[in-house]
Amino acid sequence: MSGTDKAAVTPLRPRRPCPECGRPSARDSYPFCSARCKDIDLNRWLKGAYAIPVRDDEETPEDPDPSRNDG
Ligand SMILES: [Zn+2]
Repeated sequence: MSGTDKAAVTPLRPRRPCPECGRPSARDSYPFCSARCKDIDLNRWLKGAYAIPVRDDEETPEDPDPSRNDG
């Protein structure tokens, strides 16, 4: 009597995490977790492709953390 245990289960491949946020990717927007992250990535390389000129008159308002409570 020979009992061969045949495993008819396909090994689950580790899902690729979203390259944007690291969350499990969705089938709908593979390899991203959502269309949002997909857009972010697309936008990023689009920017690089078009090489948007950097403006000189760039303003960066720096305000101290208002939530800081130093007592
Ligand atoms: Zn994501």
